[in-house]
Amino acid sequence: MSKEMGIFGSKRVEIWQEDITKVAVDAIVNAANKSLLGGGGVDGAIHKAGGSAILEECVKIRQKQGGCETGEAVITTGGNLPAKYVIHTVGPVWHGGKQGESEKLRNCYSNSLKLAQENGIESIAFPNISTGVYGYPKEEAARLAIDEIRRFLQNEDRIKKVLFVCYDRENYQIYSRLAEKLR
Ligand code: ADP
Repeated sequence: MSKEMGIFGSKRVEIWQEDITKVAVDAIVNAANKSLLGGGGVDGAIHKAGGSAILEECVKIRQKQGGCETGEAVITTGGNLPAKYVIHTVGPVWHGGKQGESEKLRNCYSNSLKLAQENGIESIAFPNISTGVYGYPKEEAARLAIDEIRRFLQNEDRIKKVLFVCYDRENYQIYSRLAEKLR
């Protein structure tokens, strides 16, 4: 299931309800953890479907820079995935909203897009970062994600297509409703 948001000028921004490991774009984004060594949720699914090449590159990045801070992003191969690259970003754990969670979540989106730009990526798919085990309220996370991506895309012309890939139905409905309002 997918729909065009129609709110970002000439860019194609779409909402999909799908497993992100099946999406054929230049890069998919992983909601990783600081260790970069894999975990549950979307992280586990990406490592499982993408194979060991992804983990090997994550280990090398760890050796070089010791993991990844919240809000930052790193890039690896997509391994066996249909996507060429995986951009791993670490979302904030929700602690009630007064510990800089929103700024950190914004950074996840903008730093992932920066890495995409630097690597000539034209199409990118985001999961709903932090809204699983990390507990970020889904509606707030969706508003922020849409706003930050819109802000970023206004000032750049290399990225052609952005997908919001919602796995759970609740997120899909939230994004669909927000897109309707923004149209
Ligand atoms: P976090 O720790 O950042 O909260 P989770 O992986 O627990 O990460 O959840 C983030 C989001 O990813 C949730 O909305 C969850 O429904 C979604 N998700 C889980 N598996 C997949 C998948 N295979 N494809 C896309 N999204 C997924």
